[in-house]
Order: sequence, then structure tokens, then C-alpha cells
Amino acid sequence: MSGGGDDSARKPATRVVRGGRRPEWTGPVVNPPVWRASTHLYASDAERREAGKHNNDGQFFYGRRGAPTQWALADALTALEEGAHGTVLYPSGVAAIAGAMLAVLKPGDRLLMSDNAYDPTRSMATGLLARLGVETAFFDPRDLFGFAEAVEGAKAVWLEAPGSLTFEMCDIPALAALARKAGAVSILDNTWASPLGFAGLAHGCDIVMMSLSKHVGGHSDLMMGSASAGKRWYTALRRTAQELGQVVSPDDAALAARGLRTMGVRLEAQTRSALAIAQWLEARPEVARVLCPMLPSDPGHALWTRDFTGGCGLFSFVLASDDPAASARVVDALELFGIGYSWGGYESLALAITPEDYRSCMIGTGGKPAIRLSIGLEDAEDLIGDLTQALSRI
Ligand SMILES: *Cc1c(COP(=O)(O)O)cnc(C)c1O
Repeated sequence: MSGGGDDSARKPATRVVRGGRRPEWTGPVVNPPVWRASTHLYASDAERREAGKHNNDGQFFYGRRGAPTQWALADALTALEEGAHGTVLYPSGVAAIAGAMLAVLKPGDRLLMSDNAYDPTRSMATGLLARLGVETAFFDPRDLFGFAEAVEGAKAVWLEAPGSLTFEMCDIPALAALARKAGAVSILDNTWASPLGFAGLAHGCDIVMMSLSKHVGGHSDLMMGSASAGKRWYTALRRTAQELGQVVSPDDAALAARGLRTMGVRLEAQTRSALAIAQWLEARPEVARVLCPMLPSDPGHALWTRDFTGGCGLFSFVLASDDPAASARVVDALELFGIGYSWGGYESLALAITPEDYRSCMIGTGGKPAIRLSIGLEDAEDLIGDLTQALSRI
């Protein structure tokens, strides 16, 4: 029996497998075929005119509105996001960020952005949005009192937890509730947790976006993004994406859907390895601090266990050394970790980071050398062995 029925009472692991598999889209095969299409044909002019009146996934119209491959992926993501009416797909995570911003903000509006938001999100605010007449203020998401004051008069609030590079947790339900009380729209970048680890809409956010290039793709061969919302904001997201001509290829949608089916087990395995490696790093003399809310010793751990149902393989650590070149020496010495952007793939990556370059009011690592790890599916003991030899180079 294929999915696509009402699985809302079933567990996330089941929904990850069944979501979007509607018989009318997949036929007798398990996965939706790759429907390559610009033109969709109509039986008559009357049917063409009728189709133009409906603007929904599942309605054949023209390639820019997708076809069953894209619809099946969007439908599967909607099935995973509790409280979502629909999901819009974008050609990258950054395109999803732009799509959400432009669906909500207009000239003269004020945006509040978490200071540990992903660097290109910050650049979009200080670049594109500033040019469009939107003013952005950055805030420390751990300061609820400061936020309650700052949010007055804001049109939208941009949240991300744990934060990029430094992984500070914040109280998303409290921030979203304060935003709602002030009449501001809350948008969450949920790329780190995915809907398997954190239910953003159910915790009070209005729009939840993620980069599908990370956990959903999972194999480092795909760029895509998504934004999910309840009916009101889904309608706005969809309209804006169509006005901007945003569309994803059916080949990429099929790859993303394929990745999605195994996301649950990949995240579980990567979380387990990441936790073991983070705990091992914590006990090393070369390491000053591990930045990972999954660790019981982390200041964000209580919030993480309260609100999150899962983790992932991405975290950072700060070296005890004061030599700014130490992080690059360690990263260069690693053999099993690649040096590169992105994360959430099956293979491990390491990156020397300088978060203070992307902060306005938080301190990052205070200038101390630090490394971000994306733990893949290799054996955790092998990864620890590799880290042991690399740390000995300091
Ligand atoms: C990578 C990333 C994005 C952007 O996604 P792309 O698909 O690379 O454009 C957005 N948010 C976070 C937190 C990310 O790590």
C-alpha cells in the first residue's frame, strides 16, 4: 500500500517513508517518476481555461508550477511538518530564505534577526533587504527581556536554533510567542534539526524553512531549499515564489525525495557518532570547549532536551591554543574529514571557523581558534583516531 493517505497520527519515521507517495503520482512504482515537463497539454481550450483558475500542487498547468515529481517531494515535506498546510520548494536553501523574506517584508518594515543566524542570511538582510528599504536589527536570542522590548514594531523575526557555527540554543517557543504578541511574523531556519528533530510550526513559528542540500539530500550532490507554513503564509510564500519564477528541476526533486527516505536513520547514526566524538573532545587537553547542545554539559542542553526530538552530526569545538593558525593546522592534518562547505552529507567534513566575523552582539568564540565538524557515516572510532593524530599537530 502506498502512502499519501492521512498519516498524521503515525510516527515521523513512518511519515518519512510514506509521505508524498500518492498512487496518482507514482503509479505502480515505489518512487515518483521524473516528470520532465515545461508544456502540459489540455484536452480542450475549456479545460485549459479551467486549469488556470486553480493554483495548487497536483494541478497540471505549466512546468513552472511543477509536476508530480516536485509535488510529491513538497507533499512529503508537508506531511513531516506538523501544522503545515503546504511546502514551497526553492533551488537552494538561500533561495528559500529569500523567498520567505520577500513573502513577508516590504519597504519600511523592520526585521529582527538572531545574531547567530547563518552568514548568508545576515548578508541578505544587510544587502538585498537594506536596498529594498527593510531595516534589520540583530539580537541575542538568549536574552528574552531584550527581545520583548526590541520586537515592538517589528514586522518579522528571523530565528535559527541552534545558531550557525556556535550552536547556542534559544527558547524558540518563548521567542515565537513574544513575536506573535507583538504582531510580528516568526520565521525559523530549521536546517540543523529538520522536522524530525524540531517541530517549528507546532512550537509557534509561522514559517519554517530549511536547506534540503544538507540532511534531506544527504549525499552532497544536490542544492535545494524549502519553506513550509500554515495556510495564510503558505499562500504568500507560493505567490511570491511564482512571482520570482522559482522552480526546481524534477531530477533534483527525485534525488531529494530519495534522500528523504533515509534521513531518519542517517540522522540517528550521525547524532550517535557526533555525541560520542563531542564527549571525547570535551575530555581532550587540546580542547577548551565543545559547542554542542546535545552534550549534557552545554548551557543549551536543557532547552534542547525540552523542545527537540533529535539532533544531527554538526557541532563545533574551540581549541585551548591561542595561536590563530592552530585550527587550520588541525583541519589540514585530518585524513578522513574533507575541507569544504555544506554539511549533513554521508561523509565527514571539517572547517576552521571564525564566527566573530559574523556577529553584531554575540561573542562567537572570542577570537579563539575553532573548528566545525560535520560527522558523517564513517565509523566513529576511526574518526576519533583521525582527530587524535590531527590534534597532536598543535
Ligand atoms: C547551508 C545552510 C543554508 C543555505 O542552504 P543552501 O542550500 O546551501 O543554499 C541555510 N541555513 C543554514 C543554517 C545552512 O547551514
